[in-house]
Amino acid sequence: MRYQKKMFSIIWLLNLFFIVLLWWNNNSDLLNQGLASNLLVWARLTGLLAVFFVLTQLLQIGRIKWLEPYFGHDRLARQHHYFGVLSFVMITLHFIFLLISYGQLSHLGWWQQIMDFVNNWEELSGAIVSWLLFLLTIIISISIVYFRWRYESWYYLHLLTYLAIILAFGHQLEWGGDLRQGVMVIYWWALYIFVGLNYLYYRFVLIVINYYCHQFRITKVVAENHNVYSIYLSGKQLVNFKYSGGQFVIARFLAAKFWQQAHPFSISQEPGTDNLRLTIKASGDFSKQIKNLPVGTPVLIDGAHGTFVPQQKKKQYLMIAGGIGITPIRAMLPEIINNGGEIILFYTNKKEEDLIFGEELKQIERGGHLHCFYHFTQEEGSLSQPRLDFVTIRKEVFDWAEREIYLCGPKPMIISLLAQFKEVGVPRSHIHYELFSW
Ligand SMILES: Cc1cc2nc3c(=O)[nH]c(=O)nc-3n(C[C@H](O)[C@H](O)[C@H](O)COP(=O)(O)OP(=O)(O)OC[C@H]3O[C@@H](n4cnc5c(N)ncnc54)[C@H](O)[C@@H]3O)c2cc1C
Repeated sequence: MRYQKKMFSIIWLLNLFFIVLLWWNNNSDLLNQGLASNLLVWARLTGLLAVFFVLTQLLQIGRIKWLEPYFGHDRLARQHHYFGVLSFVMITLHFIFLLISYGQLSHLGWWQQIMDFVNNWEELSGAIVSWLLFLLTIIISISIVYFRWRYESWYYLHLLTYLAIILAFGHQLEWGGDLRQGVMVIYWWALYIFVGLNYLYYRFVLIVINYYCHQFRITKVVAENHNVYSIYLSGKQLVNFKYSGGQFVIARFLAAKFWQQAHPFSISQEPGTDNLRLTIKASGDFSKQIKNLPVGTPVLIDGAHGTFVPQQKKKQYLMIAGGIGITPIRAMLPEIINNGGEIILFYTNKKEEDLIFGEELKQIERGGHLHCFYHFTQEEGSLSQPRLDFVTIRKEVFDWAEREIYLCGPKPMIISLLAQFKEVGVPRSHIHYELFSW
């Protein structure tokens, strides 16, 4: 796993190196010929890097099956955000450098120079609109985080960046000083085609193929407690739908009022059963409607994704689930036990009525390889306990240091436990967690 990860990183760095090398070959003799010339050279580099980073972003968020297992979807999604900022900085520098450089050469002020670009340079108006769209997306994304707008508002607006990528393409080939030479033009096209095909295949085509092969449909919707519902899906040849306990899918329910949104949900049952189960907490405007999904609804399934899965070798686990965070952990239990593993599970909820899968856990526990501790933070009187922490865990699990640790639950719980385990010296490589947000 580490080897493949290194290989991908090296290939990425080699591409970066190749771009910088070609840029240097083409431009080094233009350096030190005055400010305008210098800025033109740097504008070319920032332009090339901006495109390279944007294409990297598409690979990071493309749910690409040959990449995801090594980096993890959540990590790639985080990197996608960082690269978004980096790309935007590069695009902005590219624009500013060009503006000053050409402004100096033609003795125009910045506004006149922009108008000159728009009126007299073919394809440049598209590139300027593209930059404005990137700017708009960044501003809106920050406002959405700051003002806590709906996820969908961010999602739909952020699709504008795809338009921005298309709009910016023309000016690269038309005016890109480094994209006139044979080898670089071929490389540039190859880069776009490679990323574009991978993105289209994994984001769209594979989902259609999945549906065509399995024809997922809702067979029943079952209440697990007062606000959690399990959706059972049947499908053709489900044995061929491969996943590991702990993985998640991105589901799009093809029913009125649901089909516009695709949401990630962990598969809450082990592989090998004759249906696929998603267990969903009614927490927001979409998930609160889940209980109304009609039986028979077709479902588009993207996945399975995720690296929050049992270890190949490790036999002893300490698992901690908070609330709905039990779903991926529940799906892992049989797989671990069948492979000779042994699990101690802490399952924390506000109240006993919030607990789900109580019967299933008891049944697995009877087999003798799972031991559950239930923990409630807002129960009546003496049943209520403070938030689950390392001290409580250590009292029950004397060999905690030898165990592989799995966490899934609310973000504050994960952050707090990660810090506590780190403090007592648990190596980071022994801790695995899944956050239910990207
Ligand atoms: C890997 C993973 C596994 C998950 N597994 C489960 C599970 O087994 N059971 C369960 O109940 N929940 C699970 N979730 C959380 C679930 O996806 C969100 O609770 C759900 O999408 C909320 O949607 P909403 O519109 O009802 O709520 P909102 O209040 O609109 O959203 C709450 C938060 O959920 C996230 N979210 C909303 N829509 C999406 C989307 N389309 N794609 C990605 N994130 C979104 C955002 O962070 C948002 O801030 C999982 C999330 C992830 C990332």
